[in-house]
Amino acid sequence: MFGREFQRKYALTDQGVRNVRQGTLWTVVVNLIVMGGVSILYVIMYSFIGILTGNEYAISTFSILIALVLFVFLSFFAHMQQYKATYGLVYDEVRATRLALAERLRKLPLGYFGKRDIADLTETIMGDVNRMEHVWSHVLGYLYGSYVSTAIIAICLCFYDWRLAIASLWGVPVAFALLFGTRKLTEASSERTKMAALAVSDGIQEALDNIREIKAANQKERYLDGLYMKIDEHERATIKGELGTGVFVNAASVIMRLGIATTIFTAAFLILSGEMDFMLLFLFLLVIARIYAPFDQSLTLIAELFISQVSADRMMEINDTPTASGSSVFNPQGHDIVFDHVSFAYDSAEVLKDVSFTAKEGEVTALVGPSGSGKSTCARLAARLWDVTGGSIKVGGVDISTVDPEVLLSDYSMVFQDVVLFDDTVMENIRLGRRGASDAEVLSAARDANCDEFVSRLADGYNTAIGENGAKLSGGERQRISIARALLKDAPIVLLDEATASLDVENETKVQEALSRLLKGKTVLVIAHRMRTVEGVDKVIVLKDGEVAEEGRPEELMKRVGLFSHMVQLQRESAGWRL
Ligand code: ADP
Repeated sequence: MFGREFQRKYALTDQGVRNVRQGTLWTVVVNLIVMGGVSILYVIMYSFIGILTGNEYAISTFSILIALVLFVFLSFFAHMQQYKATYGLVYDEVRATRLALAERLRKLPLGYFGKRDIADLTETIMGDVNRMEHVWSHVLGYLYGSYVSTAIIAICLCFYDWRLAIASLWGVPVAFALLFGTRKLTEASSERTKMAALAVSDGIQEALDNIREIKAANQKERYLDGLYMKIDEHERATIKGELGTGVFVNAASVIMRLGIATTIFTAAFLILSGEMDFMLLFLFLLVIARIYAPFDQSLTLIAELFISQVSADRMMEINDTPTASGSSVFNPQGHDIVFDHVSFAYDSAEVLKDVSFTAKEGEVTALVGPSGSGKSTCARLAARLWDVTGGSIKVGGVDISTVDPEVLLSDYSMVFQDVVLFDDTVMENIRLGRRGASDAEVLSAARDANCDEFVSRLADGYNTAIGENGAKLSGGERQRISIARALLKDAPIVLLDEATASLDVENETKVQEALSRLLKGKTVLVIAHRMRTVEGVDKVIVLKDGEVAEEGRPEELMKRVGLFSHMVQLQRESAGWRL
């Protein structure tokens, strides 16, 4: 019952499964002891009626007293154990699970973080684990314990009188069948609520990230309207979900309680036909009242279990994503990057198909192609942010999928559009390129990247804090910091995402100068969006729908009638970088 499948389903650790097993055991014991209490009550009533009717029964007051004391003691002990096994141990489980998730995230390929954003992952580590905590502590042990103890009690009741047993318990399977039958609906509405909640938190995060642009462009109303809509949607989804669950749970509970009526009918019939005495009915009613109590709660718990499945699945999705690991030794022969029949899919659709090309050391290789053709994907794969699905990528003859990503990345500099900056000084942000670099080295890299010009305008120069994610800097300034970082790192491979859209002409020239310093002698792979950028490069790889459509020196490609010459013609008018 508590095998691997169970463990995966409820996202439990090994210790968590042991806790649930213990919780179940103690719940069974508690429920049986409570039934023992009911039996004592029955015996007391029986002797009491005996005294009233003048029939003495052979049960002494003393033995009833002993039974009562024993009951109180056992009941206390079993409840304590049950508490310990369920509520008591769950905090360790929560801590262990959060740590395991965080550790797992650390080892996942970096590309994974593009697929599930930070708000989403935080929600899993905090919110989903919280929801599961409730399931681990309040639901699983209690539910499974109730199943087992009810089965035992049902068997005992059958021994007393099978007809009454059926009359009183038929509602239980019917109620459960109703809940399981509507499970898909409950799960679907839970998923909808979850998605709506994520949309709200994404919306808020987006607003915080873009607050300056929203204010500047006078988009506050439009933006707030969008957010209100998301909040309304979430509210609607929540109400609908809770209403649905509530209706099913209450219907199931009513069906189960119909058992009391059928028991009384059947009993009346049996008593009238002289097959049963009144006291047995009394016992049945006592037992049924007790049996329904845990089940009533179970019905709500089962609904919670269905809803929690979404959380458990989201946690398991992190656990199921393959981690990127590999050797900590990386000794390439030179730094040519070779794509050898590479294919790749983020999900099921293939994004790259049989892509082969070489980016030579000391040369600039440009990836061009229409939007969505796979340029960024190639760059991400070259740095092992994702692992290829077919074929291989070699750097200096070494298959990069065999190298620990952290070790591999020490040979790469990435100058991407979305530079990550920390709320620290300019100096420390640049120093991130190479930890341990001296102040003089940092300043020299900064000068080469043309940072001096804008830093001199900051209040404290290089010691100015730049705000969260560089909020106080312009696009071009951020990019120059990122180039300074790359210069400081001086890695043999440079991946570059041409992104000049937000820069003005003056900035562009400065960035360009900085870049030419950075790129000298390196293996450079550049994602080019503008055709003029690639006029001076050594080699162009033209991608179309994830395949290499053309490849060669730009002047060669220009002479052919093909995608490249077509794209160049289209963009002839616009300005761009030259490398
Ligand atoms: P380009 O850089 O040429 O615009 P991309 O490499 O970004 O193209 O995208 C290639 C294809 O892969 C597109 O169809 C895009 O929708 C898809 N894609 C890109 N990133 C992801 C991702 N993180 N998850 C799923 N699909 C993605």
